[in-house]
Amino acid sequence: MLRSSRPIIVWFRRDLRVDDHAALWHAAQENVPLVCLFIADQDLIAELPSDGSVFNFQAACLQELDARLRLLGNQLIVRYGRPEHVLEQLFRQLRPIALYYNRDYEPYARERDARVEGLARRFDVEVRSFKDHVLVEPWEMATKAGAPYTVFGHFYRAWTRQSKALPYGVPKYLPAMPGLTSEPIPTAERLRKSVTIPRWAVEPGSGAAHARWKHFRDTALRHYKQRRDFPAHDEGSSRLSPHLRFGTISIRRIYADAVALIEDPSLDVTERISVEQFIVELAWREFFQHVLWHFPQTVQQSFQAWGDAFPWENREEYFHAWCEGRTGYPLVDAAMRELNTTGYMHNRARMVVASFLVKDLHIDWRWGERYFRSKLLDGELAANVGNWQWSASVGVDPRPLRIFNPILQSRRYDPDGTYLRRWLPELQRLPAEHIHDPWSMSPLEQEHHGLRIGVDYPRPIVNHMERKRRFEEAYRQLTRNERSKMSRPR
Ligand SMILES: Cc1cc2nc3c(=O)[nH]c(=O)nc-3n(C[C@H](O)[C@H](O)[C@H](O)COP(=O)(O)OP(=O)(O)OC[C@H]3O[C@@H](n4cnc5c(N)ncnc54)[C@H](O)[C@@H]3O)c2cc1C
Repeated sequence: MLRSSRPIIVWFRRDLRVDDHAALWHAAQENVPLVCLFIADQDLIAELPSDGSVFNFQAACLQELDARLRLLGNQLIVRYGRPEHVLEQLFRQLRPIALYYNRDYEPYARERDARVEGLARRFDVEVRSFKDHVLVEPWEMATKAGAPYTVFGHFYRAWTRQSKALPYGVPKYLPAMPGLTSEPIPTAERLRKSVTIPRWAVEPGSGAAHARWKHFRDTALRHYKQRRDFPAHDEGSSRLSPHLRFGTISIRRIYADAVALIEDPSLDVTERISVEQFIVELAWREFFQHVLWHFPQTVQQSFQAWGDAFPWENREEYFHAWCEGRTGYPLVDAAMRELNTTGYMHNRARMVVASFLVKDLHIDWRWGERYFRSKLLDGELAANVGNWQWSASVGVDPRPLRIFNPILQSRRYDPDGTYLRRWLPELQRLPAEHIHDPWSMSPLEQEHHGLRIGVDYPRPIVNHMERKRRFEEAYRQLTRNERSKMSRPR
C-alpha cells in the first residue's frame, strides 16, 4: 500500500541515471508515487552554445534512462518550457507532496532553483535537494581564515580529509503516477540545433558509462600516471568526463571504487600512485566546481584583473584557423580536428591548444572557452572556465606563467606521431623526424614525402618564439602594474 496517492516529483537535470542517484533514492524510500521529470529548459537551451550532437548525446542518455525507469515500474516524463512554468502546471495538476532534486552549483541553476523554491512554497510543496554532483560541497570547506580555497594544492590536502558518502545503489521499485504521458525526448532536430560533429568519442548512457568505468578500473587505471599524458593512447585516461557531465555515472561510485582499488594488496607502489593520481584529477573537478560557486563572476571575468586588461588582438582569421585546425602546428591542428570530429579532446592536447590560442595568437580566453563548450560532450561551465583561466594564467592559481611550446609538446607526448597521423591525413606519410614541424623540411624533402608546405598543409600562422616573447612582455608589464597598484598607500 502506498502511503499517499499524492506524488513526489523527482526532477532529473544533470544526473541521468537510476544507480546511486541521491534524490531518486530518497524519494523511493517514501512509498508514494513518483513522477520522474525532465524539463527541456528553453531558456537554458537558448543560452547554451552546444552543438546539436551534444543534445543528441543527451537525448540518447534520456532514452536509456526512460528504459531503466520502466524496468523499475516508472517512466520518464518530459516537458518543454521554463522550469517555473512547467512545475507550476504540475503542482496544480498533481498536488505533489514534494519536489526532490540534486543540487547544481552553476550560477544559472542556482538562480533557477531559488525561483522554483519560492514557487513550491506558494503551493505548499516541500523541496528537498541533495548532494550528488560532487563529493564535497563548496560550503563544506574553507581555509583557516574562513575563505574559499584558491590554490589547488591547499584545496586538495583539505579535500582528502573530508568524509565522503558511499554510493546509494539502485532503488528496488519506483511506483508510478497513473495517467501521465510524456512529451518526446528533446533531440537536436526538435530543438532546432544544427549537428556538426559526425561521431562521438564515447557511447552515451549509463550502461556504457558503467562498462567503460569497469573496464578502465580493472585494466588501465593502474597505469594511469604513466599513460595519461599521451593523446595517442586511447586507454590512457578514463574518458568518463561526458558521463560525469550528464551524470550517467555517479562521482560517489567512481571515487569509492578507486579508493577500494588503492587498498587492493595486489597493486604495487607505482600502480597505487597511478590510482592516487586519478583521485587528484577528480579533486580538480571538485576544485573548479567550488571556485565557480564562490566566484560566479569568473564565467565572464578573469579572476586576475590583468587578464581583462590584456591587449588581446582577437584576429578573426587566426581564430578561424585555430577552430578549424589550420594553424600549421600539427599538434594544435590534430587536437582541434579531434574535437570537431568526436566532441572530445585529450587533456594534454587541451592544454596545448588553449595555451596556443591565448599566448601565441593573443586571443581572449573567453573565445576559446565558448568554442570548447560548443563542441565538447563534457563541456561544462565549472571545468571549462576553470581550465581556460588556468591555461591563460588568469585564474585562481595562476603561477608559474606556463607557455607551452607546441613542437616540444608534440615531440614529447606523441613521439612517433601516431596521434598526429590519426587526425591529419595530409601528414600521413611523414616520418617521425619531420611530422612535428613539417615546414622545416627542405623543398627536396617535401617532394620526397609528397607534401607541399603552404599548399597541402599550412605554414605556421605565427612564429611561436616571437609571439611568446611578446606575450611575456605584455604580461610582465600588466602584472607589474597590478602589483604596484596593490602596494600603493591608500
Ligand atoms: C582548456 C581546457 C578545457 C577543459 N574543459 C573541460 C570541460 O569542459 N569539462 C571537463 O569535464 N573537463 C574539462 N577539462 C579537463 C580535462 O581535460 C578533462 O576533464 C579530461 O580530459 C577528460 O578526460 P577523461 O575523462 O579521460 O579524464 P581522466 O584523466 O580520466 O580524469 C577523470 C576525471 O577527472 C576529471 N578531470 C580530469 N582532469 C580535470 C581537470 N583538469 N579539470 C577538471 N576536471 C578534471 C574529469 O571529470 C575526468 O573525467 C578541460 C581542460 C582544459 C585544459
